[in-house]
Amino acid sequence: MLVFSLRSVNEICIKDNTSGWRILRALIIFFVLGYMGIFYYLCKQSDFIISDVIFCIIMLFGGAFVVLVTRLSLLSLLKVEKLIINERTIALHDSLTGLPNRQYLMNSLSHHVKIGFPFSLLMIDLNRFKQVNDALGHYYGDLLLIEVGNNVAEQLPHDAQLFRLGGDEFAVIVTQSELPKVEETINAIHHALESAFCIESYDLLVGASVGVSHYPSQASEIGQLLQQADIAMYASKKMATEYTLYDNTLESNAVEKVNISASLKRAIENQEFELWYQPIINLSDNNLYGVEALIRWPRTDGSYTAPNLFIHIAEQTTLINQITDWVMLQVSKDMEYFDSLSVSLCIHINLSAKDLQDPKLIEKTSALLKNNLSSQQVMFEITESAMMTNIEQVKTTMAVITAAGGTFSIDDFGTGFSSLELLRDLPVKQIKIDRSFISNIHHKDADLAIVKSVIFLSQHLECVVVAEGVEQLETVNILKSLGCDLAQGYYYAKPMPTKDFRNFIKNKGHIPHDKALQINELIR
Ligand code: C2E
Ligand code: CA
Ligand code: CA
Repeated sequence: MLVFSLRSVNEICIKDNTSGWRILRALIIFFVLGYMGIFYYLCKQSDFIISDVIFCIIMLFGGAFVVLVTRLSLLSLLKVEKLIINERTIALHDSLTGLPNRQYLMNSLSHHVKIGFPFSLLMIDLNRFKQVNDALGHYYGDLLLIEVGNNVAEQLPHDAQLFRLGGDEFAVIVTQSELPKVEETINAIHHALESAFCIESYDLLVGASVGVSHYPSQASEIGQLLQQADIAMYASKKMATEYTLYDNTLESNAVEKVNISASLKRAIENQEFELWYQPIINLSDNNLYGVEALIRWPRTDGSYTAPNLFIHIAEQTTLINQITDWVMLQVSKDMEYFDSLSVSLCIHINLSAKDLQDPKLIEKTSALLKNNLSSQQVMFEITESAMMTNIEQVKTTMAVITAAGGTFSIDDFGTGFSSLELLRDLPVKQIKIDRSFISNIHHKDADLAIVKSVIFLSQHLECVVVAEGVEQLETVNILKSLGCDLAQGYYYAKPMPTKDFRNFIKNKGHIPHDKALQINELIR
């Protein structure tokens, strides 16, 4: 029994090599030898007396006692060790996905920097995750994050480790710095997100924007490395690329973003914007159906800052609400101008997600819609993702605006969820198929199939279909053959300032007094 207890004490000494346990081990060895001596002495005896038997029984229980004490000590030590490992795992892992967390990433980065081998840091942000979370709630958002974490971790090569930093942000350390190797990891990430995730009854599709920075060629400190990967990731998101490698020019872009938002404030105060209009054509008779109001921000050198450069910055703050206010005010002025041209148009105004959350939107739109003197109508263009942000509130807002005479169009249809639920539940009168499907319709069968299906769906839902980004006659002919109702694009006309609109009609020499403008005569 004492020899058996030596095994436990040895194990304890390996885990906790303190002098106490070593003394105990020496004592047990001493007792083993003592027991052997007594055994030898008893064997030499010819007859047993009762006191020897009692002594042996006491020695036997002494041995059992030592076994019990050492065994229990070992078990307690193992338990404590397990608890410590558990605690450490909890502290270094994300409770939702089980992936290593931000703290773990920081520890790993310090470790890699200490050993000094080159490596790459990938910062990943999921695309469209926010919409899922906003539309379906955190329960589905969490399930989606777990699936994404599992899938990406499974697909990564052995020299890459995935971390979850929080929200929909992930990071990967790749112990490689050659670009082809890093690209292999990036491809694996995109491959893992390629197909939709089936979360209960929903098929959810997310993408990823990836920013890459290298140690030590680009950054020698952890803070700098993280910042660079972040900047590159935002650039990747903005440019919709699969990944972006950090370089110095990106940093100036980040600074430019701060500058843009400061100058935007000034531009709003000084009313520096212009509102341009792009014609929308009725495909059945080539008549002018309406116009889309598109904002323009002139620079001092006569060029314009593209809306794609500043609208999303404005959307991150309440500046977008002020921009929309200005657009609506301008539209109400331009309505009189269109009246003076004797054309009756449907004027399309773009609304952002933040506009739909603006409690004053109903009041603002009704002021515009109550312009009874004008024969112009108003339609609001909203993207699906904007509609899905707080859907119940959006539903109410849209219902009130519809009752006041406004109509709604789904903008960029096909690039978001293409949700049938939205089409069924919201008062939508029109669907605008995104130009990414339209531009290749004549040589990409998949695009043609999508456009055909959207037109079919819209017809059965009694929605009007608009094709945006029409640039060629070939596209016009295909759209006509498919039964598409309206078209907008450079083939007909680019967006233009109101003064050119007047000229544009005047130059063609013919202003019909009814609302039908023969576009063939006027435009081409
Ligand atoms: P959008 O709502 O999808 O507007 C259509 C964009 O496509 C416009 O770009 C228009 O000039 C462009 N476009 C029209 N036809 C063609 C074509 O045939 N080919 C090509 N390549 N492009 C075409 P723009 O004016 O630069 O506006 C970009 C985006 O900025 C708009 O996309 C819209 O999301 C936003 N935006 C513009 N004005 C406003 C506004 O007043 N308020 C809000 N909230 N967003 C606006
Ligand atoms: Ca639009
Ligand atoms: Ca659009």
